[in-house]
Amino acid sequence: MSTAALDAPIDLKADFPGLFNADGTPWHYLDSAATAQKPRAVIDAVARALGRDYATVHRGVYTRSAEMTLGYEAARRRVATFIGGREDELVFTRGATEAINLVAQCWAAVVGRGGRVLLSELEHHSNIVPWQLAGWQVDVCPLTHDGRIDLDAAERMLTREHSVVAFAHVSNVLGSVLDARRAADLAHGVGAVLLLDGCQAVPRMPVDVAALGCDFYAFSGHKLYGPTGIGALWGRAEHLAAMPPYQGGGAMIEKVTFEKTTFAPPPQRFEAGTPAIVEAIGLGAACDYVAAIGLEAIQAHEARLVAETRAGLRGMNDLTLFGPDDSAGIVSFAIRGVHPHDLGTILDEENVAIRAGHHCAQPLMERLGVPATARASFGLYSDDRDVEALLRGIERTKRIFA
Ligand code: PMP
Repeated sequence: MSTAALDAPIDLKADFPGLFNADGTPWHYLDSAATAQKPRAVIDAVARALGRDYATVHRGVYTRSAEMTLGYEAARRRVATFIGGREDELVFTRGATEAINLVAQCWAAVVGRGGRVLLSELEHHSNIVPWQLAGWQVDVCPLTHDGRIDLDAAERMLTREHSVVAFAHVSNVLGSVLDARRAADLAHGVGAVLLLDGCQAVPRMPVDVAALGCDFYAFSGHKLYGPTGIGALWGRAEHLAAMPPYQGGGAMIEKVTFEKTTFAPPPQRFEAGTPAIVEAIGLGAACDYVAAIGLEAIQAHEARLVAETRAGLRGMNDLTLFGPDDSAGIVSFAIRGVHPHDLGTILDEENVAIRAGHHCAQPLMERLGVPATARASFGLYSDDRDVEALLRGIERTKRIFA
């Protein structure tokens, strides 16, 4: 496969069995920001790992287990290099949610309970609630008028009391892209660490944690065309080494007695219990698949679809578009007099799947002054026909509600 594949999207669609209805007709799937469909390469890798290759990892003395361990650790290396990191800095988690909970809990132990974290108004609940649960004092950075995290405001708000800045790299509602390098400089300027929630960035743009200058990077495999139940936390080696374990159990220890336990070094320290072996291998295959197409090509492809969609929506009456024009792969909007759930239901009749709701970002809905938005989000397999079907369906909905 080459980057040219994106000029012939039908070929890419053919890689994804989930993009077709039971009768073989195409399904206009525009909810990839919620979860991406899986390419055959990932499905096959998962089937192989669950079948022919299956055994546990890190424990068995027999050949199959040793080979499975090699496969699991190769997946760690693949996922780490996918974001420009090292394998010893890559912890497998259940997803972004668990990765952020891990940092919120374990970094609280490093700085002491009651530390201060700066979040933003556009964060997903999974980058809000973990900090509250772990006892952090939460400050909230506002947004610019076009829906970006206002880094000038962040600069004014940050103090030496802040130990953490935690921002979405790309907003799951607005698609706005953070200037991560500047956020890192601002955080480091007051002695804080920067955690980036990279859920919506890794599937749609090149990510290099070293170039971004962040301290932690969290994401979920299932939005990156991989399986559910697997994701990653990348953290700088010295930060991971400073953190106590997150959960206790097998595989994370060095020596256990009833009096005292010592712990394995990172990343194993943070992977208690039998890991999601098959899912990790599936995520490694997903990284291979996406890398073969190329993140630059995917980014350019989604930017074109976003521009087409925004142009089509801008021409419609009674429609509010949210987020900046250079949104990454995500377009949120609201139609006056039509609840997003009704729009979603009518579009479903048209074979078009969008997301309607608060998108796990209730504080952002409050900020936008709406109870919910409709959201169309693209993947590497989306094409012009998907956009045309969406715009046609919206026109029909508007006629129904006129
Ligand atoms: N952050 C962002 C920006 C997201 O879009 C999502 C998923 N909607 C999450 C975090 C949580 O991801 P998961 O549910 O896979 O842990």
